[in-house]
Amino acid sequence: LASNELQQAPTIIEVGDVRIGGDEIVVMAGPCAIENEKDFVETAKSVKRSGAKILRGGAFKPRSSPYAFQGLEEDGLKIMVAGREATGLKLVTEVVDTRDVELVNTYTDIFQIGARNMQNFRLLSEVGMTNKPVLLKRGLSATIEEWLMAAEYIIAEGNHNVILCERGIRTFETATRNTLDLSSIPVIKEVSHLPIVVDPSHATGNWKYVPALAKGAIATGADGLIIEVHPNPPCALCDGPQSLRPEKFESLMAELKLVAQSV
Ligand code: PEP
Ligand code: MN
Repeated sequence: LASNELQQAPTIIEVGDVRIGGDEIVVMAGPCAIENEKDFVETAKSVKRSGAKILRGGAFKPRSSPYAFQGLEEDGLKIMVAGREATGLKLVTEVVDTRDVELVNTYTDIFQIGARNMQNFRLLSEVGMTNKPVLLKRGLSATIEEWLMAAEYIIAEGNHNVILCERGIRTFETATRNTLDLSSIPVIKEVSHLPIVVDPSHATGNWKYVPALAKGAIATGADGLIIEVHPNPPCALCDGPQSLRPEKFESLMAELKLVAQSV
């Protein structure tokens, strides 16, 4: 179902008036984690001014350490909605457990399935039983085939609204947090009708490398980007080192326009 053997036309996913997989590059932006309402709403307004169409923020954080900040959970989801109300931006947030799908569904516009849960098949089926778009991140060490099979679990339940997200994979290289596999973009375009967005923040782990890879992703044919933005990265509760300040995000958005025009 994810392959283009049965469907040649690209899948375009509509989230309100935002179309993912069509002619426009769609940028999703916001902090890694929702920390408090004031910062979140301020960040939401700023990324909207810069041209983002979708607001990101984690309320359930699947941290590598059980002692790290795990997210504000339902209080975080409520803050997200305040961000949507203040800006009109659509929301994307991660769901980490089948038991939370119903709750997250009442708040978000797009479910995010994180890299660590790409092969949590029960969770994939559960979001497949809703009709809400799903941003499916590539697993830490998943092949493209395994990633598409994960998409298949969602679509097989009847939910065709899957957006793939390349966020870097594990390699021997340690200079960046992960290695962004830009090759996955043309490969996915060859074998699948699903849209693909790129997350240069988690791919690199370093804000300095985010603009170069964001531009590279657009030049390579990605349908969009998801980028972490934080008003004060050194104080971020999660992923500060890879978060862009709002001013940097604004200038990146202007550069991305030029790249998009030339592809
Ligand atoms: C995130 O988007 O904040 C996240 C945890 O990403 P990933 O699942 O790609 O590590
Ligand atoms: Mn993050």
